[in-house]
Amino acid sequence: MLPTAETAGAILDVDLGAIVSNWRLLSEQHRRGPVAAVVKADAYGLGATQVTPALYAAGCRHFFVALLHEALAIRPLLPDAMVAVLGGLIPGTETVYRDHAITPILGSLAEVDAWSRFGAPLPAILHVDTGMGRLGLSPAEWATLRDGPDRLSGVTVAYVMSHLVSSELPDDAMNARQRDAFAGALGGFPATASSFANSSGIFLGDGWDSDLARPGAALYGINPTPDRPNPMRRVVGLRARVLAVRDVPVGQGVGYNATWHTERPSRIATAGIGYADGLHRALSNRGRAFFDGRPLPLVGRVSMDLTTFDATDHPGVVPGTWLEILGPHQPPDDLAALAGTNGYEVLTSLGHRFARVYHPA
Ligand SMILES: *Cc1c(COP(=O)(O)O)cnc(C)c1O
Repeated sequence: MLPTAETAGAILDVDLGAIVSNWRLLSEQHRRGPVAAVVKADAYGLGATQVTPALYAAGCRHFFVALLHEALAIRPLLPDAMVAVLGGLIPGTETVYRDHAITPILGSLAEVDAWSRFGAPLPAILHVDTGMGRLGLSPAEWATLRDGPDRLSGVTVAYVMSHLVSSELPDDAMNARQRDAFAGALGGFPATASSFANSSGIFLGDGWDSDLARPGAALYGINPTPDRPNPMRRVVGLRARVLAVRDVPVGQGVGYNATWHTERPSRIATAGIGYADGLHRALSNRGRAFFDGRPLPLVGRVSMDLTTFDATDHPGVVPGTWLEILGPHQPPDDLAALAGTNGYEVLTSLGHRFARVYHPA
């Protein structure tokens, strides 16, 4: 049985309209070319089959995922859009790409050769590594390709792309180095369209723009400019149900291993959410929830299905009350800071036991 609002321990609200307005805002910001949507990891945990049709209806025509099966899941929803796979071309999967019109992103000479052999020619994106050191053709491989273009005879190069290492830190010297390396790589190559900026890269300005930007996080409300106020609209709400409220006398431990003790007679609210739902265990004795806009400290260990909050100063919190875990008072970036991670991990950790409510665009 799927969780419903009646049975679930927590409800996830996803505002598809806010995702669409974030895409429009990024499109205004990135004047040089269109803006794609990166929808890997199930659209950063929010549901790719819900998110992609909303963006498609708004005019988005380029979608990026990490893995081939993620592309297959959304391909039928996005007629005539480009669906590209960031993870590279796994040997033996070429027919699947061709038969479903999915665009591989080639990051090694072996992948280029495999696709070229197969080609009619067929479209692909070439990925050049300008500093990430992860995927993409190395400078030496790129030089080999530039000096032996026959190798690409079976490839229609749709874009040449690269990926930024530190774009959320505008003063990091890596940004300029990658900008120059990417311009150099494009310079020696027959004219093709380019794809460069992720969410934060769009806000670095001219020099990091390209013919196709590839934001993910900012679409989902994560702040692409962490040193400035968040220009994006809030997308996610997460509320946990209070299952029980109990009076606990002074000096008593709460939760596994009794890592927290009452220092006064306390009211402890136990909510139906835990680390199995993506509420990181690192939030034990550090996190918080909100009720009526005021914070309740998370006390004791986060357990698998349950989390305890100190509701002593919140007489309005009773069984059945909903506590804000993510929302206007606690955006994903803030919860992430308390958990020692980033907003990306908070979103992609969101579990599958929530009742999910999608608010249409
Ligand atoms: C994930 C990813 C993106 C999107 O990055 P955000 O920081 O979420 O905007 C863009 N390009 C590549 C290659 C990626 O892996």
